[in-house]
Amino acid sequence: MSDRQTFWPVDCEPGEPDLLVCMSCLSEVFKRKVPMPDCPTCHGVSTYEAFTLEAIRDWGTEQLIEKAVRANAEADQPVQPAAAPGVELSAE
Ligand SMILES: [Zn+2]
Repeated sequence: MSDRQTFWPVDCEPGEPDLLVCMSCLSEVFKRKVPMPDCPTCHGVSTYEAFTLEAIRDWGTEQLIEKAVRANAEADQPVQPAAAPGVELSAE
C-alpha cells in the first residue's frame, strides 16, 4: 500500500458542486478529482457523486465534514509557501 493514490480529474463549473463523495462508504471525499481505479476505502467503482460543502455539512458525519473542509482548503491553496505547523480548518 505504498503506492501513491492516483486520481481522475473532474471538471466542475464554478458554483457547481465540486466535492466528490463516495456514496458507498461515505468516508472519502475529494475536490474536483476521484481516486482511480476505485475507492481506496470500499473499492467501489463509480460511486462518487458531487456535492457542495454546504450539503456535506448537512448530512455528513463529523469525519466526512472534516475531510471535505480539508480537501476544499487544499484545492484552493495548491501551493504551500512554507511548512505549515498544522492544518487550519477555515470555518467558511
Ligand atoms: Zn468508498
